[in-house]
Formats: sequence, structure tokens, C-alpha cells
Amino acid sequence: MTIAKCPLCGEKVKVGIKPWIGQEVDCPACDATLEVVSLRPLSLDWPYDDEGYYETGYDEELELEEDEF
Ligand SMILES: [Zn+2]
Repeated sequence: MTIAKCPLCGEKVKVGIKPWIGQEVDCPACDATLEVVSLRPLSLDWPYDDEGYYETGYDEELELEEDEF
């Protein structure tokens, strides 16, 4: 199980075994709807954050690690 940190409250959020960019997850602590914005390192952000933040040039050769921690 991969764990990411909620940017809002800092709680650990489970994102499944193989997270992907754009995956939506819910924080169990603050009930925020978050989106996976980066896999290495795994990070979450709000899906409705400023749109200019996202870059479309992600490498296709992302290596997924099942146990980031
Ligand atoms: Zn949270």
C-alpha cells in the first residue's frame, strides 16, 4: 500500500498499490478530495488547484514503487 501525505492536514492517505497521475483520493482525516500530482516523490494536491501548475511533460518511464515508505 502506498501512502502519501495530505497537503492540508498532514495525515497519511492511502492511494492504493499503484497510484497514477490524476488519481483522486480522499483524506480520511479532513475529508479533502485530493489528486495525485507526482509519483516520485509521491505527492498530493487539490485537483481544483491553479491549472497552470500541472505540466504535461511527465516522463513516460515512471517507475512505480509499491512501497514508497
Ligand atoms: Zn487531510
